[in-house]
Amino acid sequence: MTPELEFKGDFDASAKSMLVPGAWFIGFACVACRDKFALLDDPTGSGNIRLGGNATLRVTCPHCGDTRTYAAGQMLAFQAATGRSSAKTLGKREPQPSGL
Ligand SMILES: [Zn+2]
Repeated sequence: MTPELEFKGDFDASAKSMLVPGAWFIGFACVACRDKFALLDDPTGSGNIRLGGNATLRVTCPHCGDTRTYAAGQMLAFQAATGRSSAKTLGKREPQPSGL
């Protein structure tokens, strides 16, 4: 059975500024810059979790500073990238075209 985390109520949340590379977190994908940010650790440590509830969370994206209200239904579990950048997530980096 998949564990479920339920969020209720309306509250201000703050994004985690430091992510442990390779660890799983629960957060949102920023509406403005589309980068993911974390609010809390994924208690399962695997991303195998269901997120629900009717909460709304007001949170500021640590990447671009955009403050928005997100619904609990927009929450996602994601794995922080391994490597030096704590802000980037896996599978989003695209190679730069070489030369112009
Ligand atoms: Zn952002």
